[in-house]
Amino acid sequence: MKNEVKYKRSRQRERILALLRSTDLHPTAGWIYDQLKGEFKGLSLSTVYRNLSILLGQGLIARLEYGGTFGRFDGNVSPHYHFICEQCDAVLDLPLPVDLSLNKKVDAATGCQTKFYRLEFYGICDQCQG
Ligand SMILES: [Zn+2]
Ligand SMILES: [Zn+2]
Repeated sequence: MKNEVKYKRSRQRERILALLRSTDLHPTAGWIYDQLKGEFKGLSLSTVYRNLSILLGQGLIARLEYGGTFGRFDGNVSPHYHFICEQCDAVLDLPLPVDLSLNKKVDAATGCQTKFYRLEFYGICDQCQG
């Protein structure tokens, strides 16, 4: 990891990464803070944000921006689709293969070079349908 040397190893950051990798909730920074504040004396929400932005810069996590007010974070950086529930704001990983042929179609139609794309489905999750 080429950025590793730039940052002092931080136990807080390692815990944040482990926490994100252990959940598929796509949590907010506030949720992460709530989980870890008992573990680290003096942890603040801004420390959490700072560590998240370092992890983002290192490509170890992804940030999801959907209409909502808060950014959501994903410990799974391999390409996958999401379903967003408009009722409870749940962000679900979809068990569908990512269609890489779409990249080629876009490239062929535009002459551009696609690196990746994101696809989100919106609706009501199975929980909220009762
Ligand atoms: Zn829902
Ligand atoms: Zn995800």
